[in-house]
Amino acid sequence: MYLKELQIEGFKSFGKPVTLSFPTRITGIVGPNGSGKSNVTEAFRFVLGEQSMKSLRGRRGEDLIFNGGDGASRASKASVRVTFDNTDHTLDDSFDEVTVSRTVRRDGSNEYAVNGTQVRHRDIVEMLAGVNIGATGHHIISQGEADSILNASPEERKEILEDGLGLKLLQYRRAEAEKKLERARQNIAETDLLIRELTPHMRHLKRQVERYKKARAVRTELESLYADYLARETRYIAQTTAELEPREHALARQMADAEKKVSDEKHRRAGTKDDLTPRIQQTEKKLAAVREKKDAAARELGRAEGEHSALERLGNTNTAIERKKVLELRDDIQHRAAAANQEERSRLIDYIIGRLTAFLKTDGINSAAQRHDGDAIRKEQETLRKTLERLSKEEQEITAERDRLREQQEERIGEMRKSESAVIALMDEKAKAERELSDTRRRLAVLREDETQLRRELEEGAVLVGPNIYAYKEKKVPETEQPEKREKQKERQRQLERKKIQLETIGTDSGEDAFKEHDEVKERMDFLTREKDDLLKSIADCEQCIKRVQKEVDSRFAEGIKKISGEFESFFKILFGGGTAAIITEKTKIEKDNGETEERIGVEVKVSLPRKKIRSLSQLSGGERALVSIALLFAISQVTPPPFLVLDETDAALDEANSRRYASIIEVLAKRSQLILVTHNRETMHCAGALYGITMNAAGISTLLSVQFDEAVQVAK
Ligand code: ATP
Repeated sequence: MYLKELQIEGFKSFGKPVTLSFPTRITGIVGPNGSGKSNVTEAFRFVLGEQSMKSLRGRRGEDLIFNGGDGASRASKASVRVTFDNTDHTLDDSFDEVTVSRTVRRDGSNEYAVNGTQVRHRDIVEMLAGVNIGATGHHIISQGEADSILNASPEERKEILEDGLGLKLLQYRRAEAEKKLERARQNIAETDLLIRELTPHMRHLKRQVERYKKARAVRTELESLYADYLARETRYIAQTTAELEPREHALARQMADAEKKVSDEKHRRAGTKDDLTPRIQQTEKKLAAVREKKDAAARELGRAEGEHSALERLGNTNTAIERKKVLELRDDIQHRAAAANQEERSRLIDYIIGRLTAFLKTDGINSAAQRHDGDAIRKEQETLRKTLERLSKEEQEITAERDRLREQQEERIGEMRKSESAVIALMDEKAKAERELSDTRRRLAVLREDETQLRRELEEGAVLVGPNIYAYKEKKVPETEQPEKREKQKERQRQLERKKIQLETIGTDSGEDAFKEHDEVKERMDFLTREKDDLLKSIADCEQCIKRVQKEVDSRFAEGIKKISGEFESFFKILFGGGTAAIITEKTKIEKDNGETEERIGVEVKVSLPRKKIRSLSQLSGGERALVSIALLFAISQVTPPPFLVLDETDAALDEANSRRYASIIEVLAKRSQLILVTHNRETMHCAGALYGITMNAAGISTLLSVQFDEAVQVAK
């Protein structure tokens, strides 16, 4: 990497754009006093990000912009561009050429760009720190500042050395980490405060939520108990209604039917009265009369026949009626009479028996009288027989009529008995139906009460568990072979009651708001806790990073100081022709305003001039101070060479001999860094491979021309 060119436009005295190319290791810039040479040095400082206006010899940004001159109008902005060849990619960039530019406008605003892309000031500083172009500008020594490193305090000197050693980048990182750490600590304090503020509220919400959760659990249990109870109850009521209502109708109908049947039967029976008895009695009377007549006729016939037989026996002497036959006849009549009823029998039999007995006693009839009456008796007999026949026939008819009537009467009595028992059976049936109906109605009344209770449960349940109460409609109740005992359902109801009381004791409020707030606060707490964890991790990371960086800084600084000290002594010896020189770190304790003591590390410069005994740097002459400074600055550049060094009249205070020594050191330095030397010194000019002459024209504008050594000597005058 090397410095390729510098373009200046509108910056200070450069009212017109100029481009300085740096094709050689050493470039000299010469010119008369006030021509604008130091403005070139400042252009370097400016473009590389110098923030101190003092270092740029101005008070504000506007002072850096060309102010106009005789016939030349002022510029609106000042811009400087520096271009590096980066083909070796030292500037960790993919570009082969890197142009850094800075523009300042009259309003004081600054713009930085790398290869035309706008960047932050910090990006430029960090990029350049990586190639030992530090922000303290130890590689740009402005006019009259050659001994500034000696004038600096030990702490400032330490800083210059750190910058020179390229430790700034690490220190930026450390500073970044410290800032991050500080921010993280602040954030953690804020987070802790928020957590502390939220904790009691969170505790309260947690307790509330736990209570509501318990209530939720109880409500869920209650819902399940409700679902089971209501589903079973609804089914029970539906089933029992389906069973009882038709039964009620059927029984009512059955009762009405039985009642009607009873009344029909009674009505029917009333029509079939036992009205045959008078007719039977009449027939009996008629029969008795006929039989009386018949008995009389029979008696008459018997008498006639007896008379006739007696006559015949008298008429025919040989005619005898065997006693045995008469006895047989009597027995036969007696036998038959036994079959007749009492009244008939006694009349008939007594008569016949009386006659026969009389006949047998007499044992004969006056035959003469008999013969005389024989014919009349036969005639009478004939008439009596016919009468008897007629009366028998009549008797038979009346008997048949009576028997028929009796039969009819029997039938009627049977029927009436049958009707009576039918009525009794129907009454029984009706009574049974009535009993069952009353039982059914009593059960229906209980069922209606159950229905009312179910409605009440539903209403109450809706208040306690909301619309979930209707979940019972979806609930399947297991079918059982035997309908379960009602007591079981009553037990469920009691259980339900106990759960309701439990819920009411805890509280029926669903606590939605508390849950919501709890979730929100919890989310916030979780977020804060996570944030705190992240911050703690970040703090740990930062602390570790700071420690690591500090360790590296410390070790690289200690090592660098040692190296620089060695180089310092070498250059010192060259410049002073002997003596000793060193830089050492020193710890000083500083008492702060708050009474605490702080340990600060600084860098001290120790020199011992040949042949002179000096106790401190303040005893050195101006020239000697410049030489010591140069030796130290060059030593830094030797240890960590920057790509280029700008030395603005660093050689101004040197006498001829020292100028020569200075020139010889320049040659050494140029091996590692490009040098841009603003000088009036001939020895120095000799070293330069290219020379620029700067003059100021009549309009107060610095102009640039490439010159040869002799011209340069002229221009420098
Ligand atoms: P010396 O050899 O005496 O140190 P020099 O060549 O280094 O001189 P500079 O200090 O670079 O000179 O230039 C100073 C000149 O620049 C002054 O003449 C000053 O008027 C001019 N100058 C400074 N700022 C501006 C500005 N904003 N606009 C115009 N000219 C300016």
